[in-house]
Amino acid sequence: MDCLIAGVPEPDAGQQLAFLRQLQRLFQEGDFTSTYKYALLLALAELAIECDAPAGAALMLPMERIAGKFAEFYWLQSLPYSSDAAGNRGDVLLQNTDRQVAVIRHLTTLRSLGVSTLSQARQHPNWQRTLRAIATHVRKMPVQRLQNLSGNPVIFLFDPAAVGNTLTLLPGVAFQLRRFQGFIQQLVRAGWVNYIRSNRQNAALVGQGADLEAFLFGSPRAVLTQVKQLLAPLQSQRCFFCQQGLHDNAAVDHFIPWSRYPRDTALNFVLAHAACNTSKSDLLAGGAHLERWLERNAREGATIAGQLQHAGFVSEPDVATRVAAWAYREGVSAGVRVWHGRGQTALISADLMRVFG
Ligand SMILES: [Zn+2]
Repeated sequence: MDCLIAGVPEPDAGQQLAFLRQLQRLFQEGDFTSTYKYALLLALAELAIECDAPAGAALMLPMERIAGKFAEFYWLQSLPYSSDAAGNRGDVLLQNTDRQVAVIRHLTTLRSLGVSTLSQARQHPNWQRTLRAIATHVRKMPVQRLQNLSGNPVIFLFDPAAVGNTLTLLPGVAFQLRRFQGFIQQLVRAGWVNYIRSNRQNAALVGQGADLEAFLFGSPRAVLTQVKQLLAPLQSQRCFFCQQGLHDNAAVDHFIPWSRYPRDTALNFVLAHAACNTSKSDLLAGGAHLERWLERNAREGATIAGQLQHAGFVSEPDVATRVAAWAYREGVSAGVRVWHGRGQTALISADLMRVFG
């Protein structure tokens, strides 16, 4: 099912400030007894971009899409974690203060049927049943509790009583989630990592593990090696940006910078010189690069997505373009500088949005 929309004007500065205050209260006063609320907030924030409703609109999200996001977030987390460099087998981290959350149990059941990647899980005959079961838990638990602040309901994202097979973000909420995306992602991740770390039952597993955040959200280095091996021949061993030859100095670059959208999606990767990558840093790339990237995805997108799906990356074809359209629209609205090449930046131009049609 697609996301349905209904238009009203975009929230003004006062409403945006009020939204940020509510969000701040949610993190300070919300009672986090499991990691579900973080997952729900992250799911809503990402779907607000992927569904791309017009500014100010209400946005109706099918619960199964939200459940799909939960499956995606918890899939790698349903593997045993071990901070022990000596190779201790480890165990699955507890995402709750008492017994393990149901989402992890459902995913573990799929794993026990011989499923080892998310793309295999999506093809499995039990997948739809698993999604429906996850949707039921999400509807009963975090949907009802997310907006309880200091014990009182403060309804500013969606009306929990109205959630059935769909969850409707109130008018303007999708706009706010898009506008404050990077900020929300950082808050959620920090909260989630802190929850896992401070859950006493995880203490023995977590130890001093410095790679906990990478385990929960990041891409293992081995997987980035796979990205390199796939992209190098597709780019004819040339840097995506300056088109000069790559030798051993290739770096995997997030075309839409990680600082703006801290999620690895398959089509967001390009291969570049380490020096080009460092120079671009957290800037958006200029119009010529953007056009080349869109062309590459139109031409090679299915190959890249297909290959990297097996490595565990999200690879719905439209998602990368929607994320990019959102990031550039925000860039135009904020009047940022874009990166053209090493040491060359310029003010972003609104004309650039034409490439998104
Ligand atoms: Zn280069």
